[in-house]
Amino acid sequence: MTAFVFNEPNFDAHEQVVFVSEPKSGLKAIIAVHNTHLGPAMGGCRMWNYASEAEAVTDVLRLSRGMTYKNAVAGLPIGGGKSVIIGNPKTDKTPALFEALGEALERLGGRYVTAEDVGTSPADMAHVAQKTSFVAGLGASGDPSPFTALGCFVGAQAAVKHQLKRDSMEGLIVALQGLGHVGYDYARRLHAAGAKLVVADIDQAALERARRELGAEVVPVDSIYDVQADIYAPCALGATLNPNTLSRLKAKIVAGAANNQLATADIGEALRQKGILYAPDFVINAGGIIKVCYEYLSKPEADVEAHVRQIGDTLAEVFARAEREGLPTSVVADRVAEQRFKPA
Ligand code: NAD
Repeated sequence: MTAFVFNEPNFDAHEQVVFVSEPKSGLKAIIAVHNTHLGPAMGGCRMWNYASEAEAVTDVLRLSRGMTYKNAVAGLPIGGGKSVIIGNPKTDKTPALFEALGEALERLGGRYVTAEDVGTSPADMAHVAQKTSFVAGLGASGDPSPFTALGCFVGAQAAVKHQLKRDSMEGLIVALQGLGHVGYDYARRLHAAGAKLVVADIDQAALERARRELGAEVVPVDSIYDVQADIYAPCALGATLNPNTLSRLKAKIVAGAANNQLATADIGEALRQKGILYAPDFVINAGGIIKVCYEYLSKPEADVEAHVRQIGDTLAEVFARAEREGLPTSVVADRVAEQRFKPA
């Protein structure tokens, strides 16, 4: 057999990778614990109809590593991990499947704490919770998206201050892609701060609402990259910063919620060379995990907002250091995280 796990580019010193199989429920899952130096690894459970097991391994390793960086930069007392269930979330879900996952988490003794993610819901996590307490985001106090949106907003403010030397959003044009749970709330905050919105989505109802409530201008989905904007705010898909879009973007700032915005790591340097200030995705979109972590650790809910607002300060530091050292902001953000989670 080819040793593809240790050789996987995203393996990157994972502490533990567990392959779970439970024939009665049909569970086939992979739990990846990347780093627990700062605390138990926390990250969601994705359910996806992977084309192959190798694809599932690649996905879980990439996501798990990403959680270590996100959680460390956010100043949370948790490490990074992730799990994936191989299966179709529309047809293969049963309570027994999630209970079997719960049993597997229990066997790990708290080294990894799961939560909902793409393809799983708070209801699924309630089944996990039948068998283990190592599960967060049960929906006890609602959707974390408004906190993700708040983090994006304070992150955009920090970017505007650094790049445009302004304290106000008044009159700035924001090209916002994706008016979903995070995007709409972020758009609402930008509008309230005096920004003008140009928006794109595939959901006509969301566009109509943004036009009506926020005075947004609507453009076709593919035209969002050509908007003469000050800020490009990707809040839908990953990899929208790529060679094709880079040659089209007019914005001086990228500040949005989407995960994995850079199609490849070298795009970070390309953005720097173009004079576009990029707010690294895993720094600016950490508001949701901050909220979930507080809930799991029973920390005071009243302190969540102040912690999320620190995303603005963290980004201001990342921007200043990147400028001083002549490095892409994406590289500096990685280094900030690594200084925190790598044992001395
Ligand atoms: P969502 O599914 O609620 O919203 C996504 C929106 O994008 C929808 O309105 C959808 O119609 C739209 N969309 C889909 N394809 C599009 C396209 N081609 N062009 C324009 N719009 C398109 O998701 P969400 O929870 O708002 O998350 C948005 C992004 O932020 C995702 O990348 C997610 O991974 C990331 N994120 C979310 C959170 C959170 O707290 N929800 C936290 C961190 C990161």
